[in-house]
Amino acid sequence: MDLSKILEYQKLDGQLVKIERQIKNNENKKTANKMHENMKEAQNKSVKLEEKAGQLLAEIDKVKKQFKVQEDKMKEFTSKDLSSLSKEEIDKLSGLKDKLAQNLNILDRNLTALAESVNAVLSDFNKTIKIFNSCKEQFAKSKSAYENEVKAVEASQKELQDKLATLAKGIDANVMDAYNKRRKENIFPIVVPIVNNSCGGCHIELPYANISKLENDGILTCEHCHRIIYKQ
Ligand SMILES: [Zn+2]
Repeated sequence: MDLSKILEYQKLDGQLVKIERQIKNNENKKTANKMHENMKEAQNKSVKLEEKAGQLLAEIDKVKKQFKVQEDKMKEFTSKDLSSLSKEEIDKLSGLKDKLAQNLNILDRNLTALAESVNAVLSDFNKTIKIFNSCKEQFAKSKSAYENEVKAVEASQKELQDKLATLAKGIDANVMDAYNKRRKENIFPIVVPIVNNSCGGCHIELPYANISKLENDGILTCEHCHRIIYKQ
């Protein structure tokens, strides 16, 4: 079997593969993807922080109400006329007043702690927004750089594709189909010589029966990597 045409095709296709791989492994594309992920993360984080801030504010509201209740009770006690009360009653009241003062103290501390938590959440929120904005900027830059790089090779890609299409017309349809199938699976090179009784692609040693099949047919499919093997 004359494989010179498919080998010529593969040689030219190799240039196209190189361009495709450059596009696939493009650093700007990788950066853009990474930045996009970071943006999503920052967005999720800001949603969580907003929820947390909402919970803290509700908590503050609750504590403030408790504070108000205790404060009102305190006012009631301090405005009481004690002259008509017995010593026991005065002692009892004084005990309650101390207890109220204690409660007010605790609530005051709770409020301070909650306010600190709110501040921490706000600061975290601001930081997250800053990260989001910086990632967004970096994403736009990388995306545009990537698109420009893709555009820059578009013409050579098109030229190669046209040349390949012309070459394909002169190649046996079965061979071309087999080639295209492997090409879609990201295998390259696809047509490889036998080297020391092994597949020139994956280097797995070929069974004797397959070697004699190759001798007879001039072509063989590697059972391991599915490349097309030929004898030089
Ligand atoms: Zn192989």
